[in-house]
This record gives sequence, structure tokens and C-alpha cells, in this order.
Amino acid sequence: MKYYSTNKIGKEATLQQAVVKGLASDKGLFMPEQIKTLPQSFFDNIENLSFQEIAYVVADAFFGEDVDAESLKEIVYDTLSFDAPIVKVTENIYSLELFHGPTLAFKDVGARFMSRLLGYFIKKEGTENVNVLVATSGDTGSAVANGFLGVKGIRVFVLYPKGKVSPIQECQFTTLGQNITALEIDGTFDDCQALVKNAFMDEDLNKKHKLTSANSINVARFLPQAFYYFYAYAQLKKLGKEKEMVVCVPSGNFGNITAGLFGKKMGLPIKRFIASNNANDIFFNYLQTGEYNPRPSIATLANAMDVGDPSNFARILDLYNNDVNAIRNEISGARYSDEEIASTMNTCRKETNYILDPHGACGYQALKDGLKENEIGVFLETAHPAKFLEKVEEILNEKIKIPEKLQSFMKGTKQSIEMSKDFESFKSFLMKI
Ligand SMILES: *Cc1c(COP(=O)(O)O)cnc(C)c1O
Repeated sequence: MKYYSTNKIGKEATLQQAVVKGLASDKGLFMPEQIKTLPQSFFDNIENLSFQEIAYVVADAFFGEDVDAESLKEIVYDTLSFDAPIVKVTENIYSLELFHGPTLAFKDVGARFMSRLLGYFIKKEGTENVNVLVATSGDTGSAVANGFLGVKGIRVFVLYPKGKVSPIQECQFTTLGQNITALEIDGTFDDCQALVKNAFMDEDLNKKHKLTSANSINVARFLPQAFYYFYAYAQLKKLGKEKEMVVCVPSGNFGNITAGLFGKKMGLPIKRFIASNNANDIFFNYLQTGEYNPRPSIATLANAMDVGDPSNFARILDLYNNDVNAIRNEISGARYSDEEIASTMNTCRKETNYILDPHGACGYQALKDGLKENEIGVFLETAHPAKFLEKVEEILNEKIKIPEKLQSFMKGTKQSIEMSKDFESFKSFLMKI
């Protein structure tokens, strides 16, 4: 399969090039030149298949031309060693719980898949050793570090702002060792991101190292997120509730929802999508006005969605030929303030007993507000509430049980390298490794 750039200037790439480079040479995002439709027989029988079996069919449509069947199956089965169950919250609303992986957030799926696919290219195709640079305000760093832990031929550098990441999140990428290095930057998240961007553009560094990113611009991280949309459908079908399925996605960089839109293009019978924003409502405003006006992000309770210029917006435009009405036909928007998020978490806890995290709360409330008669809504519960322990306990005024997986990270010893936010010190560090 060939991958073209959303900017349509640079050359097409192979899957291997797209994964190793991350971003196209014209700074656009890679898109597969073809999106295959899956046969009706697959959907007729989907409720009888396991998560791994379903995911393999989807993965084969994306990557089957470029990865041999046995290896691809191994990558998929190894990635999905945990479940993604739907849980009934109200009569017509289900939570798709994407927090049963190693770091308790949906990013585990894409990060694990990407690490294994890169590992495959390094081993089978002789790709040189690769260095993954990732800037994080919390969730991405932990998913990527754990996803890539112990994968041969790959080193990961997690850059995070000193003192601005919660202790629970910090321990998930500073206690691992092996091929994972945590760089504690004396600056903000934006400073970390700027360091990574500058490194990708630096000639000396690119001569010395293969550098790639592991955020949702990378096709190997974002496409596998389509897997659980199919699995959610299968689970609803088993209950006989799949006829008018509406999926609501708490969105920041819009990688997650874009994977769902790919699923729909492949024939998955989702009636429509809702993209739910926090106060960073750039996409919401775009749907209202037809104009895209990025702006600096503001800090909210749902901080993994604090994005002022969603990187995957370019992919959505490309999927719908820049036609805002075509986009409006399939996606509607919602947005919630911190006050509304907190009130949703409280009300949901009281009325249904279900504990939402601040991101999932945006998804749940958008379904409450926007579902029509006969529709069944599924929202993506993108992280476990214990990942945002202090905030959730304060809002709900109760103690949250910390899952075993999180507790074991908290027992590890922190290892990190402190660094200033100027590029020269980061560069000289990378030139010496
Ligand atoms: C990353 C993240 C999101 C946003 O996902 P996008 O793909 O960037 O839209 C939502 N919730 C949580 C918990 C996240 O970590």
C-alpha cells in the first residue's frame, strides 16, 4: 500500500517509510491511498468473533500488503492482550472501556501496535535502529514508554515538563529503565514539544540518528485505533442493539475519532459520530461556522484534550474532500466547560453509580444531550478515573480505588535526566548517545 501526504506535494511513501518518518517531507500527514471495504459476511458473523480475531481482519485490510500474515497476526494478538468491554451505563448509553491496557488509557493500543510494527521492520527488513522522541503532558508518554519497553532496536526519549506532571503519571515512564529514558525539562509542555520539533528538523541530528515520533500523526499509531470501533459494534450486535449506533469520542488531537471514521468508510455500520470537546472547542466552532481557527490551548480538567490545533484535522478534511457539509453529515460537535464536566461526573455517579473520568464525562454528556429516539450511544471511556486521582476524588468527594497495575508503577524508583529547555543542550545530549 502506498501512503500519500495530505499536503499532496511530497512523494508517496511505503508503509515502512511512513512509519519510520512519521511526518511526510512536505510536513503533511500520511494517508493510505486506498481504504478497503470489508465483506458483508464479516459483519454478518462479527458478534461471534473475539477482539483479536476482529482486529486481525481490520489490520489485514490496512497492512496485509506490507506485512506477512503470520507476523501481522502476531503483532495484533500481542498488542491486544487485554479487553475493551462495553458497559451499560443507562438504558441507551454504553461506555466502551478503553482502559484495561498496561497504562490504563486507550493510547496503549496504538502505542503497542506501533512498537511491534517498527520492531518487525527493524528485524525483518533491516531498518536501522530507531530513536523515538515523545513530548508528553502525561498520557502519551506513559503509553509510548510502556508500549516500546524492551523492543529491540528502538530507544525512546520521553520529554516532560518538570513539576507539571502528576506523580502517578510521572512514575509510569520514569521507573521503567531498559530502552526508555525520561528527560525532565525545566520548562512547559510547549517547550518539550518545541525541542522535539526542532530535533526533527536538525540536519546534524538527522544525519546521525533515525528519529521518529510516536504521536497520532504516525499511521502505525492511529490506524490500529479502528480495531475497537468494530469490537464495540460486535458487542452491541450480540445484545441486538446495533441498529442505530452512535459513537461519541472525547477528542483532542482527533486521532481517535479519525480511526473511527476510517472504520465507517470500511463498511462498519455506525450511524453517526459525535466529537466532544472541552473548552478547547476549535472543532466545535468549525462545525458551526465552517471556519477553522486554531488558537493556543487552555488548561482544563480533561487535560489530554487540551489541544488548540488538532493535528488530525488535516486527515478529516482529506477524508471528506474539504467539504464541511459532508463532515457535518457524519459528525456533530459538543463542548463542555470544567464546571459542566464536574457536574456530569457527579450526576452520573449519583444516578447510575458509574465513575467517569473527566474525558469520558465529555463523551457521556454529549450522548445525554444529543441522542435521538431509537439511537443507542457508545462513548469512548478513554482513561481510567484513577489516572486523574486527585481531581476525581475532589469532584466526587470519595476515595477512588487504584488498580493494581497503577500501584506497581508507584513502587518503582524514579530515574530521569534533568535538562534545560534550550535546544543546544538537548542536541548535544542526543549527539553523544
Ligand atoms: C489522548 C487522549 C484523548 C484525546 O484523543 P485524541 O486522539 O487526541 O483526540 C482523550 N482522552 C484521553 C484520556 C487521552 O489520553
